Amino acid sequence: MIEKLDYCLGCVAKPCANKGCPLENNIPQIIKAAKEENIKEAYEILSKTTVLPGICGRVCPHKKQCEGSCVRGIKGEPVSIGEIEAYIFDKAMEQGLKLKDCIEKKEKYKEKKVAIIGGGPAGITAAAYLAKNGVAVTIYERKNYLGGLLVYGIPEFRLPKNIVEETINQILELGVKVEYNKTLGKDLNLQELKQKYDAIFISVGANNSNKLNVEGETLEGVYRRK
Ligand code: SF4
Repeated sequence: MIEKLDYCLGCVAKPCANKGCPLENNIPQIIKAAKEENIKEAYEILSKTTVLPGICGRVCPHKKQCEGSCVRGIKGEPVSIGEIEAYIFDKAMEQGLKLKDCIEKKEKYKEKKVAIIGGGPAGITAAAYLAKNGVAVTIYERKNYLGGLLVYGIPEFRLPKNIVEETINQILELGVKVEYNKTLGKDLNLQELKQKYDAIFISVGANNSNKLNVEGETLEGVYRRK
């Protein structure tokens, strides 16, 4: 890994972050901290802009995003930014570092309550940032687990389940509550939630498939996701 870290030029303009990363992760700074073997600092810097580094490091389209904008990529191979991000999260996990100890928790909105409907990647990310600002957050999830497509939609070899589990646990440790087996329209009523919460964030995903209207669609062995 040290060779991969050393390969970064530490560009002041950091196009990898400013142009390539939708979250604007401070890539040269996290690489610098990791190079100095300061994983806590690297994880702290990362946690300012993302709460899913172990996941994004594995499944983001790096070639199009950060690595696609890396100066090193102009004449050769770009810096392995995705791999480095995943490495930092894995090392942080190994060292027992927790998100709650690596973010600055604020009390700014401590009187506020927010309901999040759907505990997939959008829901858990929103929950983390709200909790970070002192908001009392409850996630309502229709399944008996969190993670959504991170759990059922990405195979183990691309995204190991223990990484998803650890990420979720670290987010819950920020003080996020969860109510499982709650489906909007069945167990939950928006009007009632509106009375109880200051805001509602709906992140149920769009996971019912559409009919393609192509030949063979109704053959035996062809399934649609319901
Ligand atoms: S553009 Fe590439 S070389 Fe420059 S700071 Fe970003 S990762 Fe490092």
